[in-house]
Amino acid sequence: MKRVLILPLLIFTCITVLAQNECRTAEYRQQLINKSPELISKIASIEAFTQNLQKAKSTTINGSSSSVNQVPTVITIPVVVHVVYNTAQQNISDQQIASQINVLNQDYNRLNPDTNNTPAVFRQYATNCGIHFELAKVDTSGYATTGIVRRHTNIIAFTIDDRIKSSAQGGDDAWDRDRYLNIWVGNLNSGVLGYSSVAGGPKEDDGVVVMYNAFGVNGSAAAPFNKGRTATHEIGHWLNLIHTWGDANCGDDKVTDTPPQQTADRGCPSGVLISCNNGPNGDMYSNFMDFVNDDCMNIFTAGQRDRMLALFAPGGERYALLSSNVLTAIPLGGPVPSTGEGGNVPITIYPNPATTFASVQLNDSEVGSSLEIINQFGQRIFVTQVNQPLMQVNVSSFAKGIYYVKICTGKKGEIAKLVKM
Ligand SMILES: [Zn+2]
Repeated sequence: MKRVLILPLLIFTCITVLAQNECRTAEYRQQLINKSPELISKIASIEAFTQNLQKAKSTTINGSSSSVNQVPTVITIPVVVHVVYNTAQQNISDQQIASQINVLNQDYNRLNPDTNNTPAVFRQYATNCGIHFELAKVDTSGYATTGIVRRHTNIIAFTIDDRIKSSAQGGDDAWDRDRYLNIWVGNLNSGVLGYSSVAGGPKEDDGVVVMYNAFGVNGSAAAPFNKGRTATHEIGHWLNLIHTWGDANCGDDKVTDTPPQQTADRGCPSGVLISCNNGPNGDMYSNFMDFVNDDCMNIFTAGQRDRMLALFAPGGERYALLSSNVLTAIPLGGPVPSTGEGGNVPITIYPNPATTFASVQLNDSEVGSSLEIINQFGQRIFVTQVNQPLMQVNVSSFAKGIYYVKICTGKKGEIAKLVKM
């Protein structure tokens, strides 16, 4: 009799094991609250602060001195990436990390190449959040850093228990959250793409965790999560965004310009998906805070931007980050150390073909070098000094055709093709 009973039990077990790859922030948040119930009032006070600012923004006339007007329109967040690896494959390359930073700078500035995929009815809500990300140049002791820390671990797969954030437990300790955004990259248990800390949560756990094969756009990144959108989504949580369905049946994400929706959308939806009486436009399934594939998410709304920026108002939970000097301070230890991988990051140009402006994304170490544009006859038609990793070049006066963008660092040069249309 017993043997007969095992089979249905096994079938049931297999079904439950087939969990979807997804973000576990909501579950992690509940876990934190269970451990420290006092977090509820802290979260509530951050929410009240955020709502007050949003209310002030909707009623404020230009020129008011309310703190909503004291939020800078452009914010640069210094980043430290902790690569916690068990296998060589998990020890992702500098190039893969650079590709992720590039995606963040696109997605948070509406410079992503797939903005045309935002359904037409939602494009009016799409916004440039004005948030930039850059690998830190100075570490917690004042010495030069690449902004990347690599740690070998004996742990084969991490869960959402935060061991990845603790050097004593097989992970790597957080750097000061008032000066850095901590991103941990490692192997997570099956089904977990990533999770984020909660604004107001413990200092030592602050930051986001991302599965190593859902990070960046090259190297180990694997479809359908190989466009860097897991980090875009998790950092959205770190900046206090809630899933578009409010983590409840037709729940509230506390943002007015995202429609209510019943639950997570998955895969790559198209057309109009009606739920929670949200017609005629339906779910905003291409929002970065939904669960669709990387290829199919492409929009933050103005309401989401305002919610994120509220953290940076005076008195806001992440206000201290604005004073971080880890991108500009002169390090104690001389030049930036090599991470052992060397080499330049390939030049990324977008949009390409370009008509008016072309953005040229470079490695931090290429700041100070020269950027040249050469036409197909070998003539140098443009030259400038690289003063930041993301350079914008006005190509509107160029004749249509093929050009070469050349970055010269000392005797070394790198070239990428640019098409003017
Ligand atoms: Zn999420």
